[in-house]
Amino acid sequence: MGAGTPDPAWPDDYSRAFTLAEAVERRGVGLHSGALARVRLQPSEGPGYRVGWLERPGEPLQRLAPHQVCDTQLCTALALDGGRLATVEHLLAALAGCGVSQAEIWVEGGEIPLLDGSALPWVEAIAEAGLRELGERAPLPVPEEPLLLRQGLSFIALTPCERVRLAAAVEYPQPAIGRQLFSLDLTPASFVREIAPARTFGFREQVEQLRAAGLIQGGALDNALVCDGAAWLNPPLRFVDEPVRHKLLDLLGDLALVGLPRAQVFAYRGSHGLHTALAAALATAASPTRLPLTA
Ligand SMILES: [Zn+2]
Repeated sequence: MGAGTPDPAWPDDYSRAFTLAEAVERRGVGLHSGALARVRLQPSEGPGYRVGWLERPGEPLQRLAPHQVCDTQLCTALALDGGRLATVEHLLAALAGCGVSQAEIWVEGGEIPLLDGSALPWVEAIAEAGLRELGERAPLPVPEEPLLLRQGLSFIALTPCERVRLAAAVEYPQPAIGRQLFSLDLTPASFVREIAPARTFGFREQVEQLRAAGLIQGGALDNALVCDGAAWLNPPLRFVDEPVRHKLLDLLGDLALVGLPRAQVFAYRGSHGLHTALAAALATAASPTRLPLTA
């Protein structure tokens, strides 16, 4: 953690509900569109994360949920009334990770700004706004049976647990990354210290292809780590295993679409597709029709 990293009194765990104490705003370029976007985070009285469009303040806020996911190719994009909202995962990871269980997210532009490619600038924004406690947090219902979702060689597994325990493994042929495994008991403090600073990464050979396809127009060497085989084009890394930590950041951000499960979640070669599929499975499990009926 570098100098100037905010270190307010984060909540001890995720047992209490928190919103922001004040509004806070950030601007920046979207990774994929390259367009300037603005985000204002505001306190919310209702649970979950609710999105409004800054250009159309009269329209009702939309609570984020996994069924809105419309694209998971390079980021997690949502189809909302009034337009598409891309690259929500790092902001949602910051909110969920810091213990902010509910907030309004007001957006101008169709993509959340990438900032430095990690969740740290959002953590700083949240620290600037401060947290306001709202009482006990209703736990997200988690199925008693383990959940396992597969996609080719990749899988994601969830088992109930008293804590929020996240693990991820990645395997890449590029020696600069290779095999990495990281797991932690998530708390707001461990999130801010171990996960939030880990930046997005990509591969040199993909960069030109994606640019030619009109994607990652805002991607540059200052907001994504670029791997070139055995080396990084833009060192130094913030952690030796920064890529797998970023995978955990993405996992947390995607799960935040449904809430933070008291569970152990392990993503082996995870992707936004797998993460959001697990969020959708949890949303189904959490729906009232699936809850056990009381006599
Ligand atoms: Zn990411």
